[in-house]
Amino acid sequence: MATPRLEINLRKIKENAHFLAHTLGSLGINVTGVTKAVCGHPDIAKAILEGGVKELADSRISNITRMRLAGIECPISMIRSPLLSQINLIVRHCETSYNTEIAVIEKLGAAARILQTTHNVILMVDMGDLREGITPKDLNSFILKMRDIPGISLMGIGTNFACLSGLPPSIEIMNEFSLLADLTEGETATTFKRISGGNSANLPWAIHACSKGRTNDLRIGEAILLGVEPVSGEKIEGLHTDAFVLIAEVIESKIKPITTDHPLIAAGYLGKENISSITRSILGLGNQDTDPEGLEFPDGINFSGVTSDHIVVIEKETSSYEVGSEIHLRLNYSALARAMSAPDILKSFSFSQ
Ligand SMILES: *Cc1c(COP(=O)(O)O)cnc(C)c1O
Repeated sequence: MATPRLEINLRKIKENAHFLAHTLGSLGINVTGVTKAVCGHPDIAKAILEGGVKELADSRISNITRMRLAGIECPISMIRSPLLSQINLIVRHCETSYNTEIAVIEKLGAAARILQTTHNVILMVDMGDLREGITPKDLNSFILKMRDIPGISLMGIGTNFACLSGLPPSIEIMNEFSLLADLTEGETATTFKRISGGNSANLPWAIHACSKGRTNDLRIGEAILLGVEPVSGEKIEGLHTDAFVLIAEVIESKIKPITTDHPLIAAGYLGKENISSITRSILGLGNQDTDPEGLEFPDGINFSGVTSDHIVVIEKETSSYEVGSEIHLRLNYSALARAMSAPDILKSFSFSQ
């Protein structure tokens, strides 16, 4: 079979989606499945929906139109603040978008009126991650400015954690977010239908905290796809962590002399004694295909370096890999996202046990 390739097990993705939809559903939390890391691949999106997730979200309109063209009809939200240059497509293909700028909401309203529809807006509030979001103290005045824009319906508020700051949400912050929802509803005489409390980094909070407060939705990508919690990288009990495996091919394998100041020896990976030569193998993929820092190599192999089209690995023992042999690599979220968007990586689907 062709390499490099990403082997994708749709059954495992479906089961992960089912586990999370069921577990969070019983806690009163809707799961919105986030497809950005798989570029909105329709087969993967369908597996998530078959698992019982009812809505999807993505950060790029190209991924969303790809899913629409493939016949996916469920609600899809735009979770990145809409680009002004993409407003018409967003209103056409997304029932809902997450927003932080009045100028954008005005344009969404104008486009919705032309298309004779209503576009739902969820306001993103920044609870400390310092990526997107309206500051909590500005939320009231923002709502008073936007809620009468024709063509727009204010659906609720959302927040996001651990994306830029790397900080997971605490119980205190989540309680503050609920309190903000209560106070804002009272002060602006509105009712929020949707209170979207975060992403996969919220799962430890969702599963362990006693009260979910007002949060009734989480936008989940990484946990469905990779079965891990993003901040710690740890497996979430009940989920598969091997729905995706990247297969790379060895294109060169040679014993080469090394000196004791080689970085991997200095780092203690290779031991310091009796090493005068070392097997260096080259895998036929590189920076253009994935994020090499996000790959997990099999036991006995260490990552040495990478260029656009080569990944060099070092084996401690005499080479066990011949030219042409295949190496199985596990991926983190960024390695997965890049591999999914790389044209030279074949996507190979199965539904096996
Ligand atoms: C990517 C993203 C998510 C999903 O995050 P995961 O860690 O994949 O669960 C949710 N919300 C927003 C705004 C995002 O950009």
